[in-house]
Amino acid sequence: MNAHFFTAATLRFFVVFFFLVSTSRAQEAAPVIIIDPGHGGSKVAGALKSRSNSSPNNATTPGGLKEKDLTLEFSKILKEEILQLAGSSGKKVGVLMTREDDRNLDFVQRAAIANRPDTACVVSIHFNAGGGKSALGSLALIAAENRNPSYDLDHRYGKALAEACSRGVRQFIPESRSRGVITDGHLHGGLGSNFFFQMLRHKRLREVPKCFLEVEFIDNPRVEEKLLKGDRAARFRAIAKEVAGELMKWVE
Ligand SMILES: [Zn+2]
Repeated sequence: MNAHFFTAATLRFFVVFFFLVSTSRAQEAAPVIIIDPGHGGSKVAGALKSRSNSSPNNATTPGGLKEKDLTLEFSKILKEEILQLAGSSGKKVGVLMTREDDRNLDFVQRAAIANRPDTACVVSIHFNAGGGKSALGSLALIAAENRNPSYDLDHRYGKALAEACSRGVRQFIPESRSRGVITDGHLHGGLGSNFFFQMLRHKRLREVPKCFLEVEFIDNPRVEEKLLKGDRAARFRAIAKEVAGELMKWVE
């Protein structure tokens, strides 16, 4: 190898190296929306002791539909709607789901997936139950103020997402309303949700807006009838379109 060859090869190496670095920087520059489909699989993931335990399912409809399946269905449609809006507006946005199939991840894993320098915001999709047979309404759940450094940000974000979701739901259940924002202060004897506990351990995730979005109360028979029976994908798409439109406002 002579000196001239070495120089040319070295130069080529650096040209390719800087091209790759600049390309990966350009990709990193697109902010990412994290969608976390709540629950999944058939077993508890994680452990109570480490506050990482995620239950496989929580809410179930009178007809037997499971929250864990509805969260995944809704999340996939929400992802499509975000990418559709990004494409039509020319805005660079990525979407990352914590799970794409019927598996349960513990909250350490969910937070690790969300913890990226390019994460713009996080939404964990859930369906509600336990409000009584006629309970209705979309709501957001955020980490309580005493342990949440971005409480005000999360509150504004959660309120906006609950209202957007409610606009979508009201196309099918006109009497439904946004229930706004509640905090996780009542969970785990006042300790809050394991989801936020694990998320708030990461500096980046303390800074970005995050909430649970409880789409609607699925143990209400009217919700099953009007929202979930028959072609629910089309109804989910109409609701997801509203939520996606709001999420885009939180992406720089
Ligand atoms: Zn849930």
